[in-house]
Amino acid sequence: MENILDGKKLAEQMKASLKDKIAKLPYSIRLAVVMVEGNSASQIYVDNKIKACKALGIECNLYTFSATTDENEVANILQNLAEDRKVHGILLQLPLPKHMNKDKLLKLIPAEKDVDGFSGENIGELCLKGLRGNAFIPCTPLGILELLRSNQIEISGKNVVVVGRSNIVGKPMAMLLLTEGATVTICHKLTKNLAQFTRQADILIVAVGKRNLIDADMVKEGVVIVDVGINRMEDGKICGDVHFESVQKKAKAITPVPGGVGPMTIAMLLYNTYQAAKQQEERV
Ligand code: NAP
Repeated sequence: MENILDGKKLAEQMKASLKDKIAKLPYSIRLAVVMVEGNSASQIYVDNKIKACKALGIECNLYTFSATTDENEVANILQNLAEDRKVHGILLQLPLPKHMNKDKLLKLIPAEKDVDGFSGENIGELCLKGLRGNAFIPCTPLGILELLRSNQIEISGKNVVVVGRSNIVGKPMAMLLLTEGATVTICHKLTKNLAQFTRQADILIVAVGKRNLIDADMVKEGVVIVDVGINRMEDGKICGDVHFESVQKKAKAITPVPGGVGPMTIAMLLYNTYQAAKQQEERV
């Protein structure tokens, strides 16, 4: 359909181009994935990341811990990986069990290997310089920006509303769009009368995790919709946060779920890992 922002197609193109570049490198790229069991979705996400790495010729080592593991054991492996010169990127799969201090563990990943872009250093650089800095930008916001730009969707001067303020999607997304010249409003659970904000949006980005949170009555004609949400329906299929069928009729462009933001997130993880390896290997 005409107004679909096809993340799957763009991600395939980006991965093909990256694969060519990686094949020409005189060194191999290695990503370490650290996962603590206890979240059923995490295993699926991790499997997808490993599969995507392998398809591009990136070596991927998985370190799995049981849900009852002591935090120090995870800290030890992160410290070793931080010092290992053969490892270019480190990914700590979230969420972690409640007894673990996520912030403390994330801090053990050096900014130059933080291909998820979650560290304070990378987020700070993103806030200061956006795409023009040296930051690794969190994969989902970066993928969304790439999807908008490759579809010639103007950002500068537009009213953008981001629903959701998480550290991994909502906040970095808002910052990135701000540095690209948008006027950005961030909404969250405590926002009163969400619809009064979403109706103002030229571009509406929804990253909440609530099926049908946004319906056609909450958006204006000609809006661009980016649906980040992943919700599992009774039949096992996944859907986003936006009521696709009704909103699509009013939208100038809309991302499907699946096939929109998800594939772009993976493509950007591969891109960040490639960049991390280049920076570390080609440093003088
Ligand atoms: P999160 O950390 O749970 O954050 C959800 C955000 O939504 C919070 O800021 C929360 O507000 C806000 N919120 C909750 N209920 C709301 C409501 N009724 N109205 C307005 N805002 C509301 O989630 P996340 O990690 O950002 O992920 C969000 C969704 O995107 C999830 O479905 C996740 O699975 C999906 N996701 C998809 C990808 C992908 O690649 N496609 C990547 C990452 C995440 P408060 O802060 O006030 O609580």
